[in-house]
Amino acid sequence: MATHCCYCGVQCGMYLRVSSDGKVFGVEPRDHDINKLKLCPKGVTAYQQVNHADRLTKPLMRDRRDEPLREVGWDTALDRVVSEIRRIQQTYGRDAFAVYSGSSLATEKCYLMGKFARVALGTRHIDYNGRLCMVSAAAANKKAFGVDRAANPWSDMLESDVIMLLGANVGECFPVATQYFWGARDRGAKLITVDPRETPIARTADIHVPLRPGTDAAFCNGVLHVVEREGLLNEEFIASRTTGWEQVRTGLSEYTPERVGQICGLDPGLIEKVGLTWGRAAKAMAFHARGIEHHIQGVDNCLSVINLCLATGQFGAAGMGYGTITGQGNGQGGREHGQKSDQLPGQRMIEDPEARAHICRVWGITDDELPRAGTSAVEMVHQAEAGEIKGWIGICNNPMVSMPDSARINRGYDALEFHCQIDFFLSETCARADLVLPGTSWAEDEGVSTNAEGRVVKYNKASEPPGDARPDWWIICEIARRLGRHADKFAFSSPRELFEELRVASAGGQADYSGMTYERIEETGGIFWPCPAEDHPGTPRLFGERFHHPDGRARFHAVEWRPPAEEVDRKYPLRLTTGRTVAHYLSGNQTRRIDSLVQQTPRPWVEVHPSLGFANGDPVTVTTRRGSATYPALVVSSIREDTVFIPYHWAGRVAANLMTVDALDPTSRIPEFKVCACRLEPGSKIDEPPAPPVPPGVAEYPRVGGLDREEPSAPQGRGTGRG
Ligand code: SF4
Repeated sequence: MATHCCYCGVQCGMYLRVSSDGKVFGVEPRDHDINKLKLCPKGVTAYQQVNHADRLTKPLMRDRRDEPLREVGWDTALDRVVSEIRRIQQTYGRDAFAVYSGSSLATEKCYLMGKFARVALGTRHIDYNGRLCMVSAAAANKKAFGVDRAANPWSDMLESDVIMLLGANVGECFPVATQYFWGARDRGAKLITVDPRETPIARTADIHVPLRPGTDAAFCNGVLHVVEREGLLNEEFIASRTTGWEQVRTGLSEYTPERVGQICGLDPGLIEKVGLTWGRAAKAMAFHARGIEHHIQGVDNCLSVINLCLATGQFGAAGMGYGTITGQGNGQGGREHGQKSDQLPGQRMIEDPEARAHICRVWGITDDELPRAGTSAVEMVHQAEAGEIKGWIGICNNPMVSMPDSARINRGYDALEFHCQIDFFLSETCARADLVLPGTSWAEDEGVSTNAEGRVVKYNKASEPPGDARPDWWIICEIARRLGRHADKFAFSSPRELFEELRVASAGGQADYSGMTYERIEETGGIFWPCPAEDHPGTPRLFGERFHHPDGRARFHAVEWRPPAEEVDRKYPLRLTTGRTVAHYLSGNQTRRIDSLVQQTPRPWVEVHPSLGFANGDPVTVTTRRGSATYPALVVSSIREDTVFIPYHWAGRVAANLMTVDALDPTSRIPEFKVCACRLEPGSKIDEPPAPPVPPGVAEYPRVGGLDREEPSAPQGRGTGRG
């Protein structure tokens, strides 16, 4: 069955192999435009989720939090969720019930989650887990360009002379995208990487900039200072296509290479070199990911990269452009159609009267019935802790692992009077819920997904859900029908029907999908939005002649570097940064159950510079103001002396987010996952990662076979503590 990978924002094409009795048993890469027959370690094992022994096959419920979950029938489960929603909303008001959704869901489901929250529940509290991912880039794109999408298809990279990659560990987080960066290098492009760690792709760069975490905006301003000083601006582009340059220019005098070198912990000569390399390029592109976005200055960091691209006129042709690399498979589509707290379908803003009027017409409700903007994901948990939010439905997310300052997140969920979670594996968050509803994996349903380029691709159904598991859209529609508030507006019987309504809802919006059909997407291999008519070819490259602000011009934004929320001091002298590793995906709820991935990377580690005096495998206790855990050391010269790194995919005692800070960007409300102050001490015993939770009746981990094999040697087995 032709489909796409369920994991990262590359969205590689693949075939799922299906037996004659309808079971998915393997995968083959597809010669699709995106990945050209390549898949990464996660992609080649993704199919193993489908018939996994841990799959949730029945609704699970408990009456009290100190009881174990027990299997119940669908009627019992749905009656419980409906009665709890009614009780909580009648007692505390509509906004006391919250919905927290996910961006690994197909777009039809994302659309449905927004409609469900606002129409069936009438709550303003809906947000999604892209809030932990790329919302800083989204906000910066809107501010600068008037639209939130990458400017180019990735194939444009092959025409570029210089590519700058900031805070993006492409080789591990988006492995198959590496082919575009290396393809450009093979044709003579220079690759510049900016990252506190010399990541796999940084090892192949022409220039690597190992800056201090939390100093990205200062670095970009320093590069722009050099470009401006050397007369390398594109004055004609600035004059004809932008506004706001003079305010930026005025502030640049402060960002001399010498001062920036001090802020960033860099040789000023490196800033000069990057400025000259970027400024002299005829065609240049910049890409970034979470490394610069997960900061209290995440939006400004992205704007400082955009300033660099605008000042040199790098838009409108192949080889020139800018983009963010989305982390989740449907990170782009998931934020376009109404599950973000401030947006409605089509990337419309919820406080815009015209946008509200359009969506009210499509949904058949009045403006009074459509809630206003809500709060962000982490803030909703904090509101639960404060007693403002009492009930919660979560789908396709695992905040016990993925949200910052886990102790506080636990307190928020503890305070809920009712918590329902929908998933296809029993995540750590499901395991503590009052009610767990078994949904479907991506292989058991059809729908569309939008990759990091803005290309809409199609997932196809390869098999039936196991046991009594049900499609996620069916579960949500069934709750809405039973609740009764606008029940007639949830009479969907397939993802196709949802997509047809989404097309109408998105029409005329920025993310306009109205000209797309399932058939067209399949025939073309993917359509780039906007696509406003069925004879429209889609829009692979944006900003050729105009940007999306009403006057057609892009906006410069003057950016002033600010220090991170937590500065180092004598007690916490190092910077902790967190991120991903190639074998695992996000909170690990899927990948920590796949034997080959667990064998490749069985546990987290702490990556430290040799100057800190530890040996490989030493137990090292990492402590921040919020928590502490002991990891095996991985001693590498590819990280800064003042920085340590922990991958965040694991739960319990070894969860990196026990230690991260929950300070938020004032605009995007993204947490500062990428820097907080810490200290290291020799530990006595390495903390063990807990086994993933399993449903009642399923054998506990570790199972016989698979995991008892010899652990591999470095680099795949890094951090195993075996020296
Ligand atoms: S690069 Fe991303 S989309 Fe492609 S196979 Fe790997 S995880 Fe899947």
